[in-house]
Amino acid sequence: MTNDEIFKALGLSAEVTGGTLIVHSPIDSAEIARVAETAASDMPAVIARAQSAFKEWRQVPAPRRGELVRLLGEELRAAKDALGALVTLEAGKITSEGLGEVQEMIDICDFAVGLSRQLYGLTIASERPGHRMMETWQPMGPVGVISAFNFPVAVWCWNTALALVCGDPVIWKPSEKTPLTAMGSMKIMERALARFGDAPEGLCQLVIGGPAVGEALVGSDDVPIISATGSTRMGRIVGPKVAGRFGRAILELGGNNAMIVAPSADLDMAVRAIVFSAVGTAGQRCTTLRRLIAHNSIRDDLVARLTKAYASLPIGDPRHATTLIGPLVDHGARDRMLAMLEQAKAEGGMVHGGKPVASGAPQGGAYIEPAVVEMPCQSAAVREETFAPILYVLGYDSLDEAIALQNDVPQGLSSCIFTLNLREAETFLSAVGSDCGIANVNIGPSGAEIGGAFGGEKETGGGRESGSDAWKGYMRRQTNTVNYSAQLPLAQGVKFDI
Ligand code: NAD
Repeated sequence: MTNDEIFKALGLSAEVTGGTLIVHSPIDSAEIARVAETAASDMPAVIARAQSAFKEWRQVPAPRRGELVRLLGEELRAAKDALGALVTLEAGKITSEGLGEVQEMIDICDFAVGLSRQLYGLTIASERPGHRMMETWQPMGPVGVISAFNFPVAVWCWNTALALVCGDPVIWKPSEKTPLTAMGSMKIMERALARFGDAPEGLCQLVIGGPAVGEALVGSDDVPIISATGSTRMGRIVGPKVAGRFGRAILELGGNNAMIVAPSADLDMAVRAIVFSAVGTAGQRCTTLRRLIAHNSIRDDLVARLTKAYASLPIGDPRHATTLIGPLVDHGARDRMLAMLEQAKAEGGMVHGGKPVASGAPQGGAYIEPAVVEMPCQSAAVREETFAPILYVLGYDSLDEAIALQNDVPQGLSSCIFTLNLREAETFLSAVGSDCGIANVNIGPSGAEIGGAFGGEKETGGGRESGSDAWKGYMRRQTNTVNYSAQLPLAQGVKFDI
C-alpha cells in the first residue's frame, strides 16, 4: 500500500496536511504528514466534554457499554491491514508486528466485551444479624491515556476497551512521534460510535501534542485516572503530580528485562527466544530482553550461537516480508545506542555487532545491527534501559547469584528463566525469585498475551493494564452494608443506646 492508499483506507485526508506537527517515517526520515496540535487553551473544554459524557455513560448498563467495544473490535478487524500498515509507516515496525499490534487491539476488545457482563463484586459475611455486606464497582470518571511511540495504538486500546465497559470516557494523548496512527484509530472508533448510535459526545477524544498537552490532563482534578505509558523519566514527573491531587495513576514505565539460562536449558529453544525478545521491534519494546544471565558452563556456547544467529538477521525496510529488523524510531535513538556501546566498552564490555547499517536499507532511516555485549559485571550501562537492541551477557555459577543479578536493577517489568529443572523453575517463580511483574518459564520476556495483567514493579511504576482484574483500576470500589432487620446493632459489640 502507498502512503496515500493507507491514509485513504483509514479515512484520513485533510487531517494529514497543514498542521504544525511534522510527522516523519522512521523508514527513511521522510516527512509523511503535518497534523494540527491541540492548543493548551482547548484542554479545559476537552476535559469538560469528557465530564459531561461521563454523567451519561455511567448510567448505560455495562453490557450495553460492551456493545460499543464489540463494534470497535469489528471495525478493527475490517481495518486491520490499513492500520497495521500505518503502524509500520509511522513507528517503523516490521509488517507482521504492525499487524500483530492491531490484533492485540482486537483481542482486548473481545476480552472487554466478555468483561462487560462480569464486573463482579463480592458478598461478604456480616457479623451483625439481619445485615448484608457487599462490594460494588462503580465508574470512576474520565481516563487520561498518555502513550508511548513504540506501541502507538495497542496501549490506547488496552485502556479504552476496559475504560469504556467500566463506564469511563477516555481522552488520549499519543506520543508526538506517532499522531497519525492515533488519528487512524479514532476514525475506526468513530465508525463504531456511529453504528452504536447514542453514545454521548466526548466519550472518546484525541488530543495531539507533546508533554504540555499531557500535563493538562495530569494536572486536572476532573481527570481522576491517568494511565501513562512511557519512560521512567516521564513517570517521575507524572506520578507525583497525580499523587499530589490524590488522583489515580496507572504507570507503565521502562523495563530492563532479563533471561536466566540454566545448564539444563533447551539451548535451541533458548536461542530462538533470545533472538526474538532481544531484536524484535528493533529492541524497542518495554519488554525487550536486555540482559542475558547465562550459567558459566554454557555462556561461551550461547554467545557463539547468538553471534552466529545475529549475523544472518535481515535488517532493512520494515515493509518487506523478509525483514526482521526495521529502523530505530529516529537518529537520536541510534546515537544513544552508539554512546551506550562506548560506555559499555569503557566498563569492560566486549561488543559484537552494533554498527550502523550503511547498505541494503532505505537511506535516511536509523538502521543498526543489534549488539551482543559480553560484560564482566552488571555495570552502570547494564542497569540502565537503552531503548535499542543491546543485549548484555553476564555469567553466573549458582541460581541464587543469577536471581540476585536479575533483581539488582531499578526496573521490574519482565523476566524469565530457561531451565528443565523443576526446582529452579519454581524457585524463580517463588517469593525469593524474580521481583518483576511478569516472570516466565521457557518463554522469552516479551510478547505478552492480553489475558494476563500487564505491568511491572519498582521503576516500571506498579501499574497494571489489560487482562485479569486490571479493570478494577478503572473503577471505584464501594463497600455497602444493608440492614434488613428491625434492630440497629453496632459492629464490634459497641453499645450506644439513647
Ligand atoms: P516518553 O516518556 O518519551 O513519552 C511517552 C509519552 O509521555 C509521550 O506521549 C510524551 O509526550 C508523554 N510525556 C512526556 N513527558 C510528559 C510530561 N511531563 N507530562 C505528560 N506527558 C508527558 O517515552 P517514549 O520514548 O515514547 O517510549 C519509550 C519508553 O516507554 C521506554 O522507556 C519504554 O520502556 C516505555 N514503555 C513502557 C511500556 C510499559 O507497558 N511498561 C510500554 C511501552 C513503552
